[in-house]
Amino acid sequence: MKRNPIETYEFWFLVGSQFLYGQETLDEVARHAQLMVDGLNASGNLPCKVIYKATLKTPDGIEDCMREANYEKSCAGIITWMHTFSPSKMWINGFSLLQKPYCHLHTQFNRMIPDKEIDMDFMNLNQSAHGDREHAFIGARMRLARKIITGFWEDADVQQNLGIWMRSAIGAIESRKLKVMRFGDNMRNVAVTEGDKVEVQIKLGWQVNTWGVGDLIKEIESVSDADVEAQMASYRQKYEFSTDDLETVRYQAKEEVAMRNFFEREGISAFSNTFEDLQEMRQLPGLASQDLMQEGYGYGGEGDWKVSAMTSLVKRMTEGMGGGTTFMEDYTYHMEKGNELSLGAHMLEVCPSVSTEKAKIEVHPLGIGGKEPPARLVFEGHPGKAVLASLIDMGGRLRLIVGEIEAVKPIYKMPNLPVARVMWRPEPDLYQAAHLWMLAGGAHHAVLSYDATPQMLEDWCEIMDIEFVHINKDTTVSSMKQQLFLSDLAWKLK
Ligand code: MN
Repeated sequence: MKRNPIETYEFWFLVGSQFLYGQETLDEVARHAQLMVDGLNASGNLPCKVIYKATLKTPDGIEDCMREANYEKSCAGIITWMHTFSPSKMWINGFSLLQKPYCHLHTQFNRMIPDKEIDMDFMNLNQSAHGDREHAFIGARMRLARKIITGFWEDADVQQNLGIWMRSAIGAIESRKLKVMRFGDNMRNVAVTEGDKVEVQIKLGWQVNTWGVGDLIKEIESVSDADVEAQMASYRQKYEFSTDDLETVRYQAKEEVAMRNFFEREGISAFSNTFEDLQEMRQLPGLASQDLMQEGYGYGGEGDWKVSAMTSLVKRMTEGMGGGTTFMEDYTYHMEKGNELSLGAHMLEVCPSVSTEKAKIEVHPLGIGGKEPPARLVFEGHPGKAVLASLIDMGGRLRLIVGEIEAVKPIYKMPNLPVARVMWRPEPDLYQAAHLWMLAGGAHHAVLSYDATPQMLEDWCEIMDIEFVHINKDTTVSSMKQQLFLSDLAWKLK
């Protein structure tokens, strides 16, 4: 997949001050800000670079800076901090213009109060404790979507929180660029995969459009033998062949090359298709969709373009983290008392990024769709903490539901199961989690990610101004009912 790595984004560190303290103090502020930025960049805890942009001292200067941040494509967000005191009415006009994600880092240049040296000069320079409160008031007063991070800037947890927020901010920027290609419509009569594509573009920026399956078939027919062989060589390098039916695998290679060509031409990063609308395609793309997902493309089955777009976005937000992210479906349960588990799978399309073993290429018949048996990748998802995220359209607003899970090594080999599988224990437990998920209206499809955290997704929702629902070990049915009832009222008033 051709795109710049996320580390090419930068975040602007904006320090607020005023002319009250004289040039010497302002020079000191700038010097300290640069030291902090250098320290943050050297920490290894941030996915992108922080740039010390300016010490802002006037309303006009702040306004110009916000305009520039909006305009500059490489700027994914701003981080503000008040070393001294910056009267926050100065920030109102600038903040009214700001369209980029915003984080207020409440910290202080020095960790300790210097017992012997502290005097009024020191106090004049080191006023974050109250300077940042004045700054935060205007954020609250203007109801700005903002992230507040508090703590000492050299501490790893503060840096990690900043790093996670950067990923949320990148998600917000990338969301506005996201294009989804739909082959065919949604599966007939399914409700949760539907949604308001106009609303989604207004809120999230997603461009969701349909292309004819016939156009894809033409593209498949025009793939050269050399391109098919190159794709086969790539499969041989990445996966283990557990089939002799190379013709079938070759057809998947052809589908993959065709889709990738199509996507690159149209600037697509997520796609959906449906087994109900394959026309003259010989196989439902299995291996092809799985390998494209592994490259970073989002995928959604049965026309589920929302889960496809979210899969693509979460992959982008978590780039370089290595735990894996995939399209997923709660498929069947293991209801053994005391060891209740969910088995996640799909008819074919699970991304091999969630496996630490080499995936196997196998060919098996598909029970539905009436096409040739497709080649697919079969593997197990690895153990570890993960999240499931489901974006639904509530009619008038979007809601993201995020549940925490603990993936386990599948307890059985399941030798006759011809698809990739992930097994997990949801928080607080299978029955409670399922109850909560269904109360909130979560789909059967979800994004499963070992890298995204609930915080990352919550902050993304806040930036995008959509509802966030979190299911974790402390969530109860009555608290969830209360939350959903109140948020329904609140979002109607908004
Ligand atoms: Mn499905």
